[in-house]
Amino acid sequence: MSELHIYNSLSRKKEKFEPLHPPFVGLYVCGPTVYNDVHLGNVRTFTSFDMIYRYLVYSGYKVRYVRNITDAGHLTNEQGEGVNRLESQAQLERLEPMEVVQKYTVGFQDVCRLFNLLPPTIEPSATGHIIEQIEMAQQLIANGFAYEVNGSVYFDVKAYNKKHNYGILSGRNIDELMAGYRDLDGQEEKRNSIDFALWKKAGPAHIMKWKSPWGEGFPGWHLECSAMSTKYLGKQFDIHGGGMDLKFPHHECEIAQNVGACDCEPVKYWMHGNMLNFNGQKMSKSLGNSILPIQLITGDHILLDKAYSPMTVRFLFMQSHYSSELDINIKGLQDAEKGLRKLLNAVKYLAELKIVAADEKTEKEIIALCNSCKEFMDDDFNTARLIASLYELASHINIFFNAGKSANISQATYDLLLTTYNAFIFDVLGLKEENISGNNDALDKVMQLVIDIRNSARTNKDWATSDKIRDALKEAGIVIKDSKENTTYEVV
Ligand code: AMP
Ligand code: ZN
Repeated sequence: MSELHIYNSLSRKKEKFEPLHPPFVGLYVCGPTVYNDVHLGNVRTFTSFDMIYRYLVYSGYKVRYVRNITDAGHLTNEQGEGVNRLESQAQLERLEPMEVVQKYTVGFQDVCRLFNLLPPTIEPSATGHIIEQIEMAQQLIANGFAYEVNGSVYFDVKAYNKKHNYGILSGRNIDELMAGYRDLDGQEEKRNSIDFALWKKAGPAHIMKWKSPWGEGFPGWHLECSAMSTKYLGKQFDIHGGGMDLKFPHHECEIAQNVGACDCEPVKYWMHGNMLNFNGQKMSKSLGNSILPIQLITGDHILLDKAYSPMTVRFLFMQSHYSSELDINIKGLQDAEKGLRKLLNAVKYLAELKIVAADEKTEKEIIALCNSCKEFMDDDFNTARLIASLYELASHINIFFNAGKSANISQATYDLLLTTYNAFIFDVLGLKEENISGNNDALDKVMQLVIDIRNSARTNKDWATSDKIRDALKEAGIVIKDSKENTTYEVV
């Protein structure tokens, strides 16, 4: 039997997974900053960790999965200076910052459901843990790794680096970093340009601020994850994950804060999901190449040829290893759509098969393929190779189905095939049969009528009516998908 091995970004090696307190596993994943809609790039990272969570549960571990909500309005630049994005968005939308938080938190959770992400077991928010963050900053001051100046508190990277190793995760060197930071704004009050904010004094215009021993202010971004992971998973826990772009400075700073406050390495296995690119470039809002989930399922995006379902995209994500870059493009989406159909059709065929006299060669092949599913997942969650095995199993199932629904394997092998195939497709990869048009006669008829009305509005260039129909259906949980050939709908 194979055993789970994980690529640890800290040791830069694949290591055997040995949890600190089996069968329990503590998993912390950095959650979204809820000041705007998540795009498919964000979704990829959260889906990767959903798959990892699912496989740990499938493997029998009792997982406490903590994924935070960043809602305290940290500042844009790495060193804790710049603009508070949450407050800027609140001004733009003429909302209270907490309304922005609510709106995008709910939106994020809707997206998670759409992509069949299991909820974490704890979803703590930064604003709900101000006290813990203040306490950690105080501990860091007491330990000589932080200092207060003008109502702000900074982490003293040089003092820390004398005793410990700043840069251990990212491999960065502090002298080079210092040179790079010299000219950034807001560096005056720090001892060194590389120091980062644990707490920032709030100016009079600031809305999101809290009382602290240093006056009114707000926490630095890195501090929240250290405070919340320690609170819910302990000073040392098993796995910490996030997107590759968080390795530095966010995760590096988290390590420094935890080690500085608790005097022990916090995380046994650091895991980083790689980026989703669109036509070769990292998908990001600022580059203007981001696709929002709603644009995907309506097809309403300049870069898309038609609408695609969330499961198609989930499947596309799963087709590549979580630590590899993935370029999303039309061809990949089209292939994923077909591939997913093949796997899901085989689920139905499999349930209809009857057992006939076993063929030894086929039997052996199927057993080997079933075993390989676990072996590939144990090899650092290799979903790409898992899917290759599932395709081969689907081919066997199709052959059986086309030969009069007769499976020439033993009952025991059929049972193994049935449990393995279903478990890996649904429980581990988190795929599901979508509620697509064609499954409900009455709804189909009504929807055909609505689609016809909308199509004639579109033909008449009556965009107001066609948008109104689309928006009202969306409110009701029905998404219209336009393609060149036809218009379909999906209940989400
Ligand atoms: P943010 O809300 O910006 O902190 O991002 C939430 C998560 O999405 C983080 O773990 C990021 O690493 C991740 N992320 C952002 N852009 C991408 C992308 N293009 N591909 C994959 N993950 C991303
Ligand atoms: Zn974090």
